[in-house]
Amino acid sequence: MAHAVKELFPQVKVTIGPAIEEGFYYDFDKDEPFTEEDLKKIEKKMQEIIKSKKPFTRKEISKQEAIKIFESIGETYKVEIINEIEDDKVSIYEEDGFIDLCRGPHIPHTGIVKAFKLLSVAGAYWRGDERNKMLQRIYGTAFPTKEELEEYLKFLEEIKKRDHRRLGKQLKLFEISDEIGPGLIIWLPNGAIIRKVVEDFWKDEHIKAGYQLLYTPHIAKLDLWGKSGHLDFYRENMFSSMQIDEVAYQLKPMNCPFHIQVYKSELRSYRDLPLRFAELGTVYRYERSGVLHGLLRVRGFTQDDAHIFCTEENLEEEIQKVLDFTVFILSTFGFKDYEIYISTRPEKYVGTLENWNRATDALEQALKKRNLPYQIDPGEGVFYGPKIDIKIKDVLNRAWQCSTIQVDFNIPERFDITYRGRDGQEHRPIMIHRALMGSLERFMGVLIEHYAGAFPTWLSPVQVEVMSISEKHVEYSRKVYETFLKEGIRAKLNIENEKIGYKIRQATLEKIPYMVILGEKEIESGKITVRSRNGENLELIGIEFFLDFIIKEIREKKQIEEVPK
Ligand code: ZN
Repeated sequence: MAHAVKELFPQVKVTIGPAIEEGFYYDFDKDEPFTEEDLKKIEKKMQEIIKSKKPFTRKEISKQEAIKIFESIGETYKVEIINEIEDDKVSIYEEDGFIDLCRGPHIPHTGIVKAFKLLSVAGAYWRGDERNKMLQRIYGTAFPTKEELEEYLKFLEEIKKRDHRRLGKQLKLFEISDEIGPGLIIWLPNGAIIRKVVEDFWKDEHIKAGYQLLYTPHIAKLDLWGKSGHLDFYRENMFSSMQIDEVAYQLKPMNCPFHIQVYKSELRSYRDLPLRFAELGTVYRYERSGVLHGLLRVRGFTQDDAHIFCTEENLEEEIQKVLDFTVFILSTFGFKDYEIYISTRPEKYVGTLENWNRATDALEQALKKRNLPYQIDPGEGVFYGPKIDIKIKDVLNRAWQCSTIQVDFNIPERFDITYRGRDGQEHRPIMIHRALMGSLERFMGVLIEHYAGAFPTWLSPVQVEVMSISEKHVEYSRKVYETFLKEGIRAKLNIENEKIGYKIRQATLEKIPYMVILGEKEIESGKITVRSRNGENLELIGIEFFLDFIIKEIREKKQIEEVPK
């Protein structure tokens, strides 16, 4: 690709172009962005180069020699890169007069390339630093066969269709507005009702699982964050502090220190433990504007957070409980496949070796007992304790980081919290931080893409749309609509003066699970006709019968709706 670009745009400079998981990219120093037309031309030129089957020749030369070569052809970025290489020698590849710096290896000749496609263009700063020049990046991908490429392109189409930013707009779920600020989510009514359903479910299940629910403030004195250690190891993710009555306050990046305060609000004995505090806690973290992405990467979000305080003896059982609870919550949303990682002790750590081993062991045992496959990330734990990270797999088999279970030996120490043991002495509790969905914002983004916006009935903003065929049926429609409302079903009434076909199309676009269509026949028989969003029809059924059916579907949080039989 770089060769083709240089042939077509000789004034452009090449910079770096690595292989990435989904293909490759190359950054070019060019003032104007590449257009769609440019990409087509580049692809055509690439085809010519492939047809010519030109060999790639590798040469190992001294740095000095390499610098001379790249200087002579005006490739100043390459010179900059070579100057930073520590070895004395570098390797270059030559192909039909085009020279590039590369560690290799390469295919023997260009004819080996069988199927490729240039996918998109984007701006990218030299070395990812916004103080540097903006370069023009071209993304592409390549496969050994045309069939595999086709399959991948179809997959990309599917991803595009499911893009939560697009569906978020189409289904009026959320908004991110420049007027409010980047990375800050406005939940529109349709998104807000889904969030409410998720929150209610989350809270009810936490109470059942022995958690106590909390609410804590969004700001606290800056000193608190010094004591917790966040100012030392988390500062770059925190917003600037603000002055209130000449005291510095900080927007919270975490909920932990507040939950410590709740722990400290009473004297604790071993009989009180484990204590499980849960909060849908909204936190604010600084993210560079370039990495913000819809609901997935934001600056303000609500963690489904909890902190468990337990003794060394409780630890294993508590971890098992958290893990089982995590799997229960995730599978309710239809996520049954996970990628699980255990991160173990890094070189620098706090706490005793014995506790680290005990905690890491407990994490591993919990996964083993449930036959959940996992990988170990050696030394990748945070300095304060080992952790489990769980990525959920969506219908397209994409992995999303959501749940985390972290053991912490540090914060209890820093805040000097204790409990009175059986022996009458003061002991230090162990703390577990855990989030199951991660954050409501991110989880919503994943849900939208997983379901492609067609939420199961229990989550759908509107569960039933009642529509009249003509003006004569308005009164009956209103009556049926009110029956649904009374039963707690989220219903919508459509008595607009439109053709029924149009109403059905609209409701289908809005991905409403059930349409109740009312006309002459329905009024005469006192029954209803139900149509599901996938087009199945059931004519003239009793309203009581359908109510029983849909209420059961919602209560059981079924994944897929079906027409009652
Ligand atoms: Zn925490």
